[in-house]
Amino acid sequence: MSNRFIGARQTTLAREIQLTGTGVHSGAPVSLTLHPAEADTGLRFLVTKRGRVIAEIAAHVANVKNLTLCTVIGDEAGTTVSTVEHLLAALRGLGIDNLYIEIDSKEVPIMDGSSADYVEAIDRVGIRELSEPRKYIKVLKSVRAEENGCWGELHPHTGFRMDVEIDFESPVIGRQRLQYEMSPGIFRHEIARARTFGFMSDVEKLWKAGLALGADLSNTVAIGEGRVMNPGGLRYPQEFVRHKMLDAVGDLALAGMPLLGAYRSYRGGHRLNSMVLQALFADASNWSVVQVPRTRTTRAPMPVATSGIAIAAE
Ligand SMILES: [Zn+2]
Repeated sequence: MSNRFIGARQTTLAREIQLTGTGVHSGAPVSLTLHPAEADTGLRFLVTKRGRVIAEIAAHVANVKNLTLCTVIGDEAGTTVSTVEHLLAALRGLGIDNLYIEIDSKEVPIMDGSSADYVEAIDRVGIRELSEPRKYIKVLKSVRAEENGCWGELHPHTGFRMDVEIDFESPVIGRQRLQYEMSPGIFRHEIARARTFGFMSDVEKLWKAGLALGADLSNTVAIGEGRVMNPGGLRYPQEFVRHKMLDAVGDLALAGMPLLGAYRSYRGGHRLNSMVLQALFADASNWSVVQVPRTRTTRAPMPVATSGIAIAAE
């Protein structure tokens, strides 16, 4: 089967997906159901309590409430959903535009600390193309945010390009930089399995603060005593910067639509990623909503379809 390009039309899941797991910060069990949704729904969380929906929260930067350790979104009434980034990364990384994400807890399950389980579940049911044209947020002007020596920028670009650099004092991580023209194939193979990471020296502080209660070696790459403590070691070369790119793909999904732009960050994190989106939306002349024109041929993608929207057949 040749490559299948889905860039011109909106998508959703072909069927419902049910997943269970544990919240990394709460340590509590979580059930998650991903429901196919119609065009222009976007990615929306439905928070349930005893089987009833108590809040509907759009995955949008306007709804971000907290960015200290993970990305938290919420509504006016105070209902929140935290650690949304790895799930949103899988959805945006594979090119899913519309979905209801039903969740019976305040935290998206950590699974193995990466997007791998979400990608696998999505691949199992497949992606359905809808008849409506896909909409993108096109970056028209460069924007920048910076804080404490960390910075991030979005620049005009015909695809979705990611360039992420980290710089840690720990020689186990050090300085790492990775650049990709993002596509579902790249996301699936180069990014999706990269796990979250943390320093053993920070864990006790987090536990005292009632955080990271569900963190262990099954869902976190732990660094201590000058080495990676996980018995299996790393999954990829430069797994750390790959995970930072995964986080950034998830955080940038809070634009509400796929981005046409190039993202570059240095020592970034959830807070910075969100600040860059806020800088983009701060001025209406920085961006516009565009559609990819219909192509007549199914063989040659439009130039813009080289990015973010190519699903590699596997
Ligand atoms: Zn992460």
